[in-house]
Amino acid sequence: MTDASRRQSDVLVIGAGIHGLSTAFHLAQRGVAVTVLEADYCARHASGVNAGGVRTLGRHDAEIPLALSSRELWHELRQTLGDDGGFVPSGQLKLAETRAELEECRLRVQHLQALGFSHEVLVDQAQVFDIIPTVARHVVGGIWVKDDGYAVPYRTVTAFRLAAEKSGVQIHEATAAQRIEQSGRRWKVATAKGDFSAEHLVITAGAWARDLAAQVGESVPAHPEGLMLMVTHRVAPFCAPVLGATGRSLSFKQFANGTVVIGGKLIGSLDFPARHGEVDMTRLGTSARTVTDLFPHLKNLGVNRVWAGVEAFTADDLPVIGASRKASNLSYSFGFCGSGFQMGPGTGKRLAQQILGDHSDISLDAFDIGRFAAAVTDPNHLHQPVDTLPQH
Ligand SMILES: Cc1cc2nc3c(=O)[nH]c(=O)nc-3n(C[C@H](O)[C@H](O)[C@H](O)COP(=O)(O)OP(=O)(O)OC[C@H]3O[C@@H](n4cnc5c(N)ncnc54)[C@H](O)[C@@H]3O)c2cc1C
Repeated sequence: MTDASRRQSDVLVIGAGIHGLSTAFHLAQRGVAVTVLEADYCARHASGVNAGGVRTLGRHDAEIPLALSSRELWHELRQTLGDDGGFVPSGQLKLAETRAELEECRLRVQHLQALGFSHEVLVDQAQVFDIIPTVARHVVGGIWVKDDGYAVPYRTVTAFRLAAEKSGVQIHEATAAQRIEQSGRRWKVATAKGDFSAEHLVITAGAWARDLAAQVGESVPAHPEGLMLMVTHRVAPFCAPVLGATGRSLSFKQFANGTVVIGGKLIGSLDFPARHGEVDMTRLGTSARTVTDLFPHLKNLGVNRVWAGVEAFTADDLPVIGASRKASNLSYSFGFCGSGFQMGPGTGKRLAQQILGDHSDISLDAFDIGRFAAAVTDPNHLHQPVDTLPQH
């Protein structure tokens, strides 16, 4: 392949996180020639450093059909990619620690059932103790989703990368898209390594996508945050499912090697120009206390490593997925608000279908970038403080 032909493709994808690589993979499976540009290296940002939660539990109503279809793909990942990304269908359990929280859970499950969804199931105290016998005795019940689980982020993204490359996708790392412009029917993307062009452009640049969308005059109320995680030393197996809590920030799972990963949309600080997040030890301490309240036997367990990744949050806590409203042959998939790892397989497939003009029963209307036009006239109507957002 000549250098000139490597720079031209049917579809050019900007960003090699799980969303860019999943979209590229699904397009290539359909015979489309795809090139991916990545500013750093594949999986460098949120997709490679997240908590690995594969969670449909607690999703916004609008996300549920896409999240459920994505979960089906998680269960088939080994057949699809040749590697399951370390996916463990452990189930996810959201704990209620008070009667009031249990009532909140009951109302949530009732609400979902009225919408026709039965994946979240209310469980009482005895059922919780059956699922997780080691949890503190003050827990009164919760919500159980048996087909959710967790995976290993870097391994999953690498599996998408390798499968995409096997299907013919060209990936250029250390190649940041600087300027995007449409000329006639083709998109031209300028990089420090020269120009790339394609008929269709897909922007999956995570926390940086907002600025690329702004280049075509599409304004999205989104902002980056540094999300933190910590991982403990090894401890004997005591917790099979992924745990969350109703009344406080928690996302918690024990990997097969015995380490425990603790998160829950914990906001640290951010050095956006340097492209990295920074940890806030005081906030991590609060999170560690939640864990020892629920599992007192972990009180003396050491923390091995802490880190923060860069994630994009939108003002209404929903991602932007689908076609541009300002330019032809331009699609977006970004702004996953701390929950986009689970959505990666399904969203990439669905976006590829939309680009190819396929019909699907899964609507992307709620994720249309055009919804933010209303925010221009009423900037407050989409605002939701990060602390009130659902946890993993
Ligand atoms: C600490 C943490 C824990 C999380 N836990 C979970 C969880 O348990 N479950 C869950 O479902 N989700 C979780 N998430 C959220 C999830 O990781 C993200 O929603 C998801 O990975 C976003 O994927 P992405 O492909 O959109 O973005 P990213 O992974 O950020 O990828 C975007 C890529 O685009 C590249 N890029 C940016 N600008 C350019 C440019 N100009 N040119 C070329 N490339 C560019 C970036 O370098 C980056 O590699 C967590 C996130 C964090 C940070």
